[in-house]
Amino acid sequence: MLNLVLFGPPGSGKGTQSAKLVEKYGLTHLSTGDIFRANIKGETDLGKLAKSYIDKGELVPDEVTINMLEAEVEKAGETKGFIFDGFPRTVPQAEALDKFLNGRNETISLMLELEVADDEVVKRLILRAKDSGRADDADESIIRNRLKVYHEQTAVAAQFYKESNKHRGVNGIGTIDEVFQRLWTEIDA
Ligand code: ADP
Repeated sequence: MLNLVLFGPPGSGKGTQSAKLVEKYGLTHLSTGDIFRANIKGETDLGKLAKSYIDKGELVPDEVTINMLEAEVEKAGETKGFIFDGFPRTVPQAEALDKFLNGRNETISLMLELEVADDEVVKRLILRAKDSGRADDADESIIRNRLKVYHEQTAVAAQFYKESNKHRGVNGIGTIDEVFQRLWTEIDA
C-alpha cells in the first residue's frame, strides 16, 4: 500500500493536491477537516463537539480525532492506500497512527509537507472564505490562531517522520500543476 501524509499549514493546498493524488494513484482520501464538516452539517454529536473547537481555530481533542480517523480507515475496506490530509496534527496523533497502522501490518510511506509562508496562507484563506463559506476562514484573527496552533502543536509532528527519513518538504508556491509535479516526483523517486 502507498500511505501518504499530506502535511502543511491551513491553506497550503492539501485538499487541492489530495484530489490530484487520488486520481493519479487510486488512493482513499481521508481529510479530518472534511469529516468534521460533514458531521457539523449532519448535526451529529461529533459535529457539535467539533464545531465548538473549529469555530475558535483550535484543535479537536486528540482522543476524539484519533477514534474517528481509525473508524474511517476500517470503514474504507480494500484500497491501494490512503492519503491522510489534516492528520496527524499533533505528536500523540502521529504516535497513534503509527501504532494503528502497525497493527494492520501497514506503515506510512511518506509525509509530504507543503511549504507556504504565513502571510501567503492568510491571503489564500481570506480569498477562499468568499466561496467556501467556512467561518474559520472568514476572520483573520481565527486564521492567525490556526497558524499559531500549527506552529506550536502541529509542526512538531513532522519530527516523527523526519527521524525515520520519511519526511519530504515540497515548495507549495506555484501553479497547482507545478506543485503537483513536485509531489509526484517525490513519491515516484
Ligand atoms: P485547514 O487545514 O485549512 O485548517 P482542515 O479542514 O484540515 O483545515 O481543518 C479544519 C479544522 O478542523 C481545524 O482548524 C481543526 O479545528 C479541526 N481539525 C482538523 N483535523 C484535525 C486533527 N487532526 N486534530 C484536531 N483537530 C483537527
